[in-house]
Amino acid sequence: MAARGVDYLDDLNPAQRAAVEQLDGPVLMLAGAGTGKTKALTVRIVHLLKTGTARPDEILAVTFTNKAAREMKDRVGGMLGQPAEGMPWLGTFHAICVKLLRRHAELIGFDRDDVVIESADDRVHLKSNFTILDTDDQLRLLKQLVQAAGIDDKRWPARMLAGIIDDWKNRALTPDKVPAGDAGAFNHKGVELYAQYQRRLVELNAVDFGDLLLHMVCIFQASPDILEQYRRWFRYILVDEYQDTNVAQYLWLRLLAGGHRNICCVGDDDQSIYGWRGAEVGNILRFEKDFPGAKVVRLEQNYRSTPHILAAASNVIRGNENRLGKELWTEAQDGEKVRLIGHWDGEEEARWIGEEIEAMQGGTRRARPFGLDEMAVLVRASHQMRAFEDRFLTIGLPYRVIGGPRFYERMEIRDAMAYFRVVVSPEDDLAFERIVNTPKRGLGDKARQTIQATARAQGVPLLRGAAIAVENGLIKGKGGAALRDLVTGLARWGRMVGDAGVTHIELAEIILDESGYTAMWQNDKTPEAPGRLENLKELVKALEGFENLQGFLEHVSLIMENDAGDAGAKVSIMTLHAAKGLEFPAVFLPGWEDGLFPSQRSMDETGLKGLEEERRLAYVGITRAEEVCTISFAGNRRVYGQWQSAMPSRFIDELPEDHVEVLTPPGLYGSTGGSMGGSTPAPTVDSRAARADVYNSPGWKRMQARAARPGQSTGLSQPRESRTVVIDAEAVSSFARGERVFHQKFGYGEITGIEGDKVEVAFEKAGTKKVVARFLSASDD
Ligand code: ATP
Ligand code: MG
Repeated sequence: MAARGVDYLDDLNPAQRAAVEQLDGPVLMLAGAGTGKTKALTVRIVHLLKTGTARPDEILAVTFTNKAAREMKDRVGGMLGQPAEGMPWLGTFHAICVKLLRRHAELIGFDRDDVVIESADDRVHLKSNFTILDTDDQLRLLKQLVQAAGIDDKRWPARMLAGIIDDWKNRALTPDKVPAGDAGAFNHKGVELYAQYQRRLVELNAVDFGDLLLHMVCIFQASPDILEQYRRWFRYILVDEYQDTNVAQYLWLRLLAGGHRNICCVGDDDQSIYGWRGAEVGNILRFEKDFPGAKVVRLEQNYRSTPHILAAASNVIRGNENRLGKELWTEAQDGEKVRLIGHWDGEEEARWIGEEIEAMQGGTRRARPFGLDEMAVLVRASHQMRAFEDRFLTIGLPYRVIGGPRFYERMEIRDAMAYFRVVVSPEDDLAFERIVNTPKRGLGDKARQTIQATARAQGVPLLRGAAIAVENGLIKGKGGAALRDLVTGLARWGRMVGDAGVTHIELAEIILDESGYTAMWQNDKTPEAPGRLENLKELVKALEGFENLQGFLEHVSLIMENDAGDAGAKVSIMTLHAAKGLEFPAVFLPGWEDGLFPSQRSMDETGLKGLEEERRLAYVGITRAEEVCTISFAGNRRVYGQWQSAMPSRFIDELPEDHVEVLTPPGLYGSTGGSMGGSTPAPTVDSRAARADVYNSPGWKRMQARAARPGQSTGLSQPRESRTVVIDAEAVSSFARGERVFHQKFGYGEITGIEGDKVEVAFEKAGTKKVVARFLSASDD
């Protein structure tokens, strides 16, 4: 083997190299974040190819996300240096299983198109045309079954059944294999409904996500010859993020690798964060039992993060009882401490992060400027993204949402928006083209060409061209009549845009109804139709936040523009789950509040399982950062339209103080942006009391105590001036007559009386008033 002197191997440390060079037999790399597992896996693919051990199509590499697959492909391509003849099978479990399942769909009773297609690897395959249901489709189908079974779907919602079925699928359980212990599921009807659901899916020629693996596992188990074929085919198997495989994925891998045992898995038990989706961290811990004689490689040198970041992550994860325990070290220089900052509310947190990103981009805050694509905001829950998207749009900060909801990209939403666009701007030709024959109006290519030719000849937009074509009888028959209806409809709705008697919400409904668009989906019998109707309703609901159709259209086009095109550097926004395996020079971790992170659900649970998974998520979050890691929390947050006050996350208490710098919240003393210590500006009027909740929370007080501790103060800025003490309602008894106080609205004054939680104050400027004690601060000047 031409191992020595091969430059792609020179980048590896001895342990990585050992894992790469052991090409045959089972290999496990079990190591902490940033130790180069993915890197080693990538080099291993190159090594397999360069040494001629395997052809590209004999290699199967499984990654956790499509993004990771793309990156790995690019890296392999780059390292090969020459265009490889074909690429390995590189993708997620689902992406790979879709491809395989299309070849064998008839085995599970699906239609098969007799289409012979040539695939990239030059093998000829038969393709099946089954559809993959999304979650909405799945839910609707289940709801029908639940109702048909005479079950009260209020008490027993379809969503619950969906969860149970997914769970069974993740455990590779077909209806006949569900264990007796689960018989009580879903009011004792779960198993029967599961069976009905699977039959219905076959009738619809459809699969859901969980089926992709389940069906493949069943096919492998039932057809040894097919399994044998794939074992000969995929001679080398590589798996990243093995700690997050579920039982079905695990079985699928074990079946495939069962013959040759050339399987290399890498993972980190501390980064198992998909237990809620059926991942079994036990899979990785059992590897040596499953594949006796496996070479196990442990990596301890971290190449990603500074020592402060690493220390913070290590200290947090140490709080978990159930872990193997690994020590990480790095040669990197100290760098900056992990930064911690509290905010009054989520909006302010978003504002501060937006400003901080701009400042870091400009290089004013740090030793070097950071590119936008070097920075990421990682949230615990996807609803947190909204505040950042809105804020970044407002200040014109380019961002991309990775793995975000794609509501505005759905077909029916784009159709409806196209209608709105033509109504608002009759010259919008692209939108007009989209709707002219949607719903079907009997306008074929010929009619459309006539419209275009007329418009071109007259130098007018398509809609006007269509009107002229209709007036002159250029388009005959049913199509012509339908087009006339559309043209007059658009003119009528256009007049309503400025009509004070019709709200833009009503107008939207009128357009969708009168154009026949809603009816089109009502008459549609495909399983997707009801969901599309629900989305249309949701779209109309979304209009409520805007004054008129134009405003809404602008908003959406901004979002779309931001989503579209990958050109230009952008800040990334994504969930912590989606960030697994990735790295960024600067990472923002907002929303570290109990109830949000860790999630309320994990806190309510008995036992530590959920909480430990949240803690692993915190570990994943911190270890994404290379140079700068900023953790923040807000004292108040609007959740589903309601204000809720929040406590700083318990994970904040687990951050090691030596490695953390507490930043002064902006606005508290009138500063804008995150000050990095230094002199504290004078207090401003309106911000102190407003933040009383945050600064009176036990978490904040603990932080302050740390910051103030002698000997610990180096590098830790004081979170607030010592002469100002913000107090809350409970502290009311600490007020005394004659005491000088400060009120957010009325300024300085002297206490003249106390009644319960109300205090009478003679203000210097505003006169004597009764105020609520919690809006007062003691002032000793
Ligand atoms: P995670 O657990 O987060 O997925 P990982 O173990 O897969 O992390 P990688 O992403 O492979 O780690 O590597 C982390 C960083 O360290 C990458 O930027 C990678 O290029 C770099 N790296 C890996 N190995 C080495 C090495 N031997 N020398 C220098 N840099 C390395
Ligand atoms: Mg990795």
